[in-house]
Amino acid sequence: MRVLYFDHALELRADYPEPAPIAGESLVRVTLAGICGTDLEITRGYMAYRGVPGHEFTGRVVQSGNSALVGRRVVGEINAGCGRCRACADGMARHCPNRTVLGILGRDGAFAEYLRLPDANLKPVPDAIADEAAVFVEPLAAAFEIFEQAALKRSDRIAILGGGRLGAMVAMALRSEDFAPVVAGRGRERLARLATLGLNAIAADTLEPGFDVVIDCTGNPEGFARAIALVRRRGTILLKSTAAAGAAMNLAPIVINEINVIGSRCGRFEPALRALAAGRVDPRPLIDRIAPLDDGVSAFALAADKSHFKVLLRPA
Ligand SMILES: [Zn+2]
Ligand SMILES: [Zn+2]
Repeated sequence: MRVLYFDHALELRADYPEPAPIAGESLVRVTLAGICGTDLEITRGYMAYRGVPGHEFTGRVVQSGNSALVGRRVVGEINAGCGRCRACADGMARHCPNRTVLGILGRDGAFAEYLRLPDANLKPVPDAIADEAAVFVEPLAAAFEIFEQAALKRSDRIAILGGGRLGAMVAMALRSEDFAPVVAGRGRERLARLATLGLNAIAADTLEPGFDVVIDCTGNPEGFARAIALVRRRGTILLKSTAAAGAAMNLAPIVINEINVIGSRCGRFEPALRALAAGRVDPRPLIDRIAPLDDGVSAFALAADKSHFKVLLRPA
């Protein structure tokens, strides 16, 4: 089968073996796959990943031991737990220490004609959700995770730092639940585009401190320090990107101002599927381009261009 393969460089491979059948796992023909910031990081060395990247997808089950899944249009949770540890027993496979992660850790991903995931990871997509919207379920689920981690109030002043694809998804999730966040981004063109999505987008350097909640979606190491400077005393910071991994910063204000800091990564798919099916979120205006898988390498370059929100790949 054809795949995009990463090993120090990204390349198209035409003769990659199809995933072999495994008990408890289904074979999915990928319909659409989205390129996200994590994929771009992988091509810069993140996780030292070697293999087929891609974890945002929708597809159709072509082979499964679970007959209820065969032929179904699905999306898939990307973390595959061991099924034996405490985290897995708690239904938290995404925190299993022995997990594999689709296209990120020890498991080939979605930039391929076919992928394989455990049956339990696959969620049928309601008919009301088009493929072009379903492909956003994974990042949207990560956005909805915020509600499970922080007790937000409708009256909270909420700032989202970062006007890229992640910031836009988080803003859309908040809007769908009747919160009114400001999205702080850079570049006139990008801010205008966020505004056309109905989001309250402002230039990042015009933000004044005093927010109840600051959500860092910048994807750069300075985002965390900026969030500390903008949140009010006893306010809450949610970190949605791992970019601050190597940042040197002064953490004293977290103690002095008694700031709650919450790390936030992946989320359950159900809230995202419900919001899409009800039409409360429509991420399709974020799509800049749908490229054939064969043009995957140049599609990655497009996705890396900051003026773009989302580039999708279509393997068929
Ligand atoms: Zn992603
Ligand atoms: Zn486990």
